[in-house]
Amino acid sequence: MKADVIIIGAGASGLMCAAACGRLGRSVLVLDHSEQVGAKILVSGGGRCNFTNHHVAAEHYLSNNPQFCRSALARFTPRDFLSLVEQHNILYYEKEAGQLFCQASSRAILTMLLKECDKAGAQILPRHKVIQIEKTDLFSVTTDHGTFTSQSLVIATGGLSYVNLGATDLGHRIAKQFGLKIVPPKPGLVPLTLQADYQRSVRDLAGISLDTVVSCSNRSYRGNILFTHRGLSGPAILQASSHWTPGGRIVIDLLPDVDIHAVFQEKRSSKMEMQNLLAAYFPKRFAQVWCELHIISKPLNQYSDKDLRMIVGMLHAWELAPGGTEGYRIAEVTVGGVDTAELSSKTMEAKKVPGLFFIGEVMDVTGELGGYNLHWAWASGHACGEFA
Ligand SMILES: Cc1cc2nc3c(=O)[nH]c(=O)nc-3n(C[C@H](O)[C@H](O)[C@H](O)COP(=O)(O)OP(=O)(O)OC[C@H]3O[C@@H](n4cnc5c(N)ncnc54)[C@H](O)[C@@H]3O)c2cc1C
Repeated sequence: MKADVIIIGAGASGLMCAAACGRLGRSVLVLDHSEQVGAKILVSGGGRCNFTNHHVAAEHYLSNNPQFCRSALARFTPRDFLSLVEQHNILYYEKEAGQLFCQASSRAILTMLLKECDKAGAQILPRHKVIQIEKTDLFSVTTDHGTFTSQSLVIATGGLSYVNLGATDLGHRIAKQFGLKIVPPKPGLVPLTLQADYQRSVRDLAGISLDTVVSCSNRSYRGNILFTHRGLSGPAILQASSHWTPGGRIVIDLLPDVDIHAVFQEKRSSKMEMQNLLAAYFPKRFAQVWCELHIISKPLNQYSDKDLRMIVGMLHAWELAPGGTEGYRIAEVTVGGVDTAELSSKTMEAKKVPGLFFIGEVMDVTGELGGYNLHWAWASGHACGEFA
């Protein structure tokens, strides 16, 4: 079977690209090995799909080339996606920080994309396992249901996390087959684990959540952190995790809105125990465990000025050396992937291999939490769809 364009991966970027190509009159085939196409769209945003963000801009993306995403983002904005959503009468709402979610269910977004593909004449073939890809004049894709050929081949196979939702490394393998560089992938937007000693001490804190600022590699995120049985999760940790590398540290301002130095000065001659004072700002259990880990809790009037300054420093900059991450099993995204230096930022085409395109999460562009990753899938899929 022959088509102008074959897209491998019927997820967010692949479906968007298929609709865009088809609208321009190209014949399009989308191959996916899964039974359920768009599986990550369905689970996204806790089932409500945080499909874009009003604040989409290059500074919300992580890549070896932070400028790469600019062109595609400028040509497909949150307003463009919202127009589509509104045309399909999908109700949505803004949760916080510009994050837009479906009122009812993520399924509405998948249905919308499938309708757009249908309208554009793009054919979607689920349950097609890709066995081999070759390029002569045309691309030839051998699957367990026969061989398909095309002028253009678009790789939209996504990231490595959530194997149960269809994730594989096929996209990275295809890039390597054609001699393209890969930025080493790692899990992103993922809970961090603590080192074994620390895990034992903080195990009892599981379920406690604190409003903080978490910093890692010169990036800071305001938001909740959540203690888990093995470490830390919560939005601020997930955000910081994308910047964390093994051996690195994270720094947590436990009291971003409190001048604890001023509080200590005010109570300088008080006989109140430090742990009890801190329990006014944190859950009691946290105040107790934190004091056990870092200081000797005693009445405030028994500390030296130097000790108090040190405690202030630790409360506003609590340094932790995570032991690792919870891995691809539950990472929301993959950081790294096909090196953007290999691709045109206008078309997503591989510079060395005319006709071969990469879109979405398979490449080294990773968004922050908050609808940015799906928006990259839409924007890169749309950009490629104009040229593939
Ligand atoms: C639990 C969870 C929640 C998320 N929530 C949000 C959110 O609310 N907002 C947001 O912006 N982002 C969210 N994300 C991230 C977002 O879903 C992804 O970044 C986005 O789907 C990437 O789009 P993509 O097209 O690159 O890949 P995907 O949407 O993952 O699609 C890849 C497709 O390729 C197919 N495929 C893979 N390997 C092969 C192969 N070997 N052969 C054939 N087909 C293959 C897969 O079956 C899949 O259909 C979430 C991710 C997860 C895991």
